[in-house]
Amino acid sequence: MAKELRKAPPARQRVEHMTADIRIPPIMKIGAGAFSEVPAILASLNCICPLIVTDAFLAGCGLAEKLQDQILATGIQCEVFSGAVPDPTTDAVDQGVSAYFAGRHDSLVSLGGGSPIDTAKAIGLLVANAGRVRDYKVPKPIPKAGPVHVAVPTTAGTGSEVTRFAVISDSISEEKMLIAGSALMPSAAIVDYELTMSMPRRLTADTGTDSLTHAIEAYVSRRANPFTDTFALSAMKTIWAELPIAFHQSDNRSAREGMMLAATLAGIAFSNASVALVHGMSRPIGFFFHVPHGLSNAMLLPTVTQFSASSAAPRYADCARAMGIAAQTDAEFDAVSKLVEGLFRRNEELEVPSPRSYGISEARYFELIPTMAMQALASGSPQNNPRTPTESEIEQLYRDIWK
Ligand code: NAD
Repeated sequence: MAKELRKAPPARQRVEHMTADIRIPPIMKIGAGAFSEVPAILASLNCICPLIVTDAFLAGCGLAEKLQDQILATGIQCEVFSGAVPDPTTDAVDQGVSAYFAGRHDSLVSLGGGSPIDTAKAIGLLVANAGRVRDYKVPKPIPKAGPVHVAVPTTAGTGSEVTRFAVISDSISEEKMLIAGSALMPSAAIVDYELTMSMPRRLTADTGTDSLTHAIEAYVSRRANPFTDTFALSAMKTIWAELPIAFHQSDNRSAREGMMLAATLAGIAFSNASVALVHGMSRPIGFFFHVPHGLSNAMLLPTVTQFSASSAAPRYADCARAMGIAAQTDAEFDAVSKLVEGLFRRNEELEVPSPRSYGISEARYFELIPTMAMQALASGSPQNNPRTPTESEIEQLYRDIWK
């Protein structure tokens, strides 16, 4: 830690905003039972035939059917497209677009984790705009918003229900693409923690660490602003306390409720402040080695925090204090050190593997490091990091986490 503090270059200036451009969904329903309000929300938005976008698991366990029945019972027609896949691909999106047009739909309801929600966002993108998903890869703008989209998350989580982002993997170029724009913001977010009670331990840990990463990265981002700071600090405080409880006691309703709310708050924070280096480096690991998104974030978070900390020590110290890892009276350096140590320890508690112990091929991993570093930089996220890395520094960070 001390070594990192000495060798780090001076901090880059945070972007000074005259005003912050804040976007959140115009309708949000939060709390137990919100799930049953989907039909009323669709009616209030004049939807007559939504397409429910979900994945095979949520279709198979009966949740998609329950939602469909609720909607049909109110006289609104709807169909289910269950072709969303983890780390959604352009092929899956294209199938969803075909289903949308074949059923003469006028709106979308996404049900699931970040993958079905992002798939629905991309379907909406192509319903309203010409071309393919890859034509809208960051920094390309999205001209037109898609149809009404009611997002119902079942993980806690990506926060995608409140973000202006979608992450879609290009089935041809093998790139995990970031798509961004206010046009992707859902019309409504239905945040019902009861839908997360079925999450197994690993999914709880991974999605929860994804939320923690959103909160920390939003707070230290060069695009942070006073509005997003409030959401980020509140989210990281809750996640730090509740995630181990939800991990060890899957039926703990209070921990599940805290995690669900915090995931949404963290989503609001990063959507309006951006993520940074962890996310930039995480997407290529996810795509090339099929590591779940939250897990690849977890593999990176302690090491990347250690790398970045000296360039925004006061901000990282705030995180440590908000999370209760450091005392309010701790000096900045001590607070930052405790944060880094705490993140490494938390990974042990949540049984986060390294890329090596996850079973990734060593030869393939090291062969792909230059490509992953190039893709990470091209995503734009590292440029929001308090310490802006060079390509070779990113390559070294990939080597550092291999273990
Ligand atoms: P996911 O949607 O990929 O789901 C992972 C698995 O968990 C699936 O098999 C799913 O069926 C299952 N699952 C979902 N809910 C469950 C529940 N309640 N109980 C049991 N199983 C359940 O996982 P995710 O982590 O939520 O989403 C990851 C995706 O989101 C990645 O593609 C990532 O890049 C993206 N993402 C998007 C944003 C954004 O702002 N758009 C932000 C972060 C991540």
